[in-house]
Amino acid sequence: MQDFRTPTTGAPCAHTSTTTELMPQESRHYAKLNCADCGAFLKFLPRPENVERRKLNGFRLAKLQMCPGLNAWEREFIQSVANHGNKLTPKQQAVFDRLCLTHLDGRRAA
Ligand SMILES: [Zn+2]
Repeated sequence: MQDFRTPTTGAPCAHTSTTTELMPQESRHYAKLNCADCGAFLKFLPRPENVERRKLNGFRLAKLQMCPGLNAWEREFIQSVANHGNKLTPKQQAVFDRLCLTHLDGRRAA
């Protein structure tokens, strides 16, 4: 039975079907993914709204990077966000939203 375990492929078991278990409200995780067959823990799942926001951020980030109207500081900020895989702190998100508003949504670009 020992050799049934796959070595370090990242998956704790050889099954393919999964179940999602929502975490309690006080948890910092949203949900976890378990194996439906043996119940092995696979990974934590991010909140759907965070996934959506990161997708949207990635899209707007790409547009901002092509935007000619950015000043040096803004360009650096955008670059550093891109380097960190679009993960933003709430403060950075506020700056990012403002840049989007100014350069992408407000159509009075120079
Ligand atoms: Zn399993």
